[in-house]
Amino acid sequence: MADTDKKTSPKRDLLEKSKNGYDRIDPSELKSIEKFNNMYKEFINAAKTERQATEYAAAAAEKAGFRRYERGDPLKPGDKIYRINRGKAIFLAVIGSESPAKGINIAAAHLDAPRIDIKTTPLYEDFELAYFKTHYYGGIKKYQWLAIPLELHGVVALKSGEVVNISVGKDPNDPVLVISDLLPHLASEQMKKAMSDAVAGESLNALLGSIPEPDDEGSDRVKLHVLGILNEKYGITEADLHSAELSLVPAFDARDVGLDRSMIGAYGHDDRVCCFDCLQAILDIENPSKTALCILVDKEEIGSEGVTGMQSGFFETFVEDICEAFDVQPRVCYENSFCLSNDVAAAYDPNFPEPFDKRNSARLNYGLGICKYTGTRGKSGASDASAEVVARLRRILDEAGVIWQMAPLGKVDAGGGGTVAKFMAKRNIDTIDAGVPVLSMHAPFEVISKLDNYMSYKGMKAFYMSV
Ligand code: MN
Ligand code: MN
Repeated sequence: MADTDKKTSPKRDLLEKSKNGYDRIDPSELKSIEKFNNMYKEFINAAKTERQATEYAAAAAEKAGFRRYERGDPLKPGDKIYRINRGKAIFLAVIGSESPAKGINIAAAHLDAPRIDIKTTPLYEDFELAYFKTHYYGGIKKYQWLAIPLELHGVVALKSGEVVNISVGKDPNDPVLVISDLLPHLASEQMKKAMSDAVAGESLNALLGSIPEPDDEGSDRVKLHVLGILNEKYGITEADLHSAELSLVPAFDARDVGLDRSMIGAYGHDDRVCCFDCLQAILDIENPSKTALCILVDKEEIGSEGVTGMQSGFFETFVEDICEAFDVQPRVCYENSFCLSNDVAAAYDPNFPEPFDKRNSARLNYGLGICKYTGTRGKSGASDASAEVVARLRRILDEAGVIWQMAPLGKVDAGGGGTVAKFMAKRNIDTIDAGVPVLSMHAPFEVISKLDNYMSYKGMKAFYMSV
């Protein structure tokens, strides 16, 4: 019997048709995918820290007709405004035609990414080599950060109030820094250790120099020589490093990945890819019904703490200012609002299948990933969006022709994680996670799919315009 004679039950229509995004996408959109991802690569190369990302977002906002908002400024529907929180977070809003009492649409993503921070008394010399002591930031596998070129970015704040910008390694003519690793020939003891213990946090010291100061007969002449270079270039002394924020990040730019160039490898996709998508989406919308709010915050990787994190009152301050302009009680606005916690999802990795549930995992090229709950061991710490909230998002995305998928995190009891979602839910705002699936999350070189990235942008636009 030929295949065509096979019986087909009408019940087959009840099944969900899950297909690769490339088999579903309208071919006319393929060009948009490439164009959009080229813009994204420019952003991710320019934004190696949350401060640089904030600067980029502010400049892009100004170009798109947004104005810097000051408390008390009059607001009317259609207005485009933004406010920066201490140089490390930025909030952008397009005022809707409806009152904020009807609720607002909020997309929240984080600008910080795992990295190696410089300690507050960092500079020292050992065995005639100069180093920076470091303290890693966020959840990293420490071994991944050894023996790769690193850029140094950040600021040194002087007592005078002046803030000196430091950037080493971005220019191809710049030197880079590195944290050395042990040669395999002498690593027999190290290789026996568990991966979590093989590299001690205190051994992540970044190599700065090796030339001794010529005109000196005292101790630590290599350290002195390096300090001289810092002083000559930036006008700083050793004590000034106490009031600095300096970070080491991978010294390579974004590259297309794969022979078919379908993916992008870069440092910091988590979560700058979602930041870019919800930023670009708010720059591209006009006259939404509900006020659209894009919030790009700091400190998610260490618990959303601090004055620039999602738990900061900066959020209430900004939204209350908007509500006040329309004579609306903020609590009325919150209970009617909808928030997409825009954070990356873990993509199923065929190289490491063990911790994933194949039937409940995000896949590359299957579009924007929706995550109902995160958490660890019995959903602990998750805000767990309601069924109604998931349905509302499904409707918004389907009506706009966005390719999307469900994207839970790994097998039950395999581990877990969190996002800013719970801090938004705590404010009595319906919140759900959605973001771009990532391979090698938190590694120096993370991988995303171009199709997924574009669908995330398209989804955010539909979300801002939804009623
Ligand atoms: Mn994240
Ligand atoms: Mn993360």
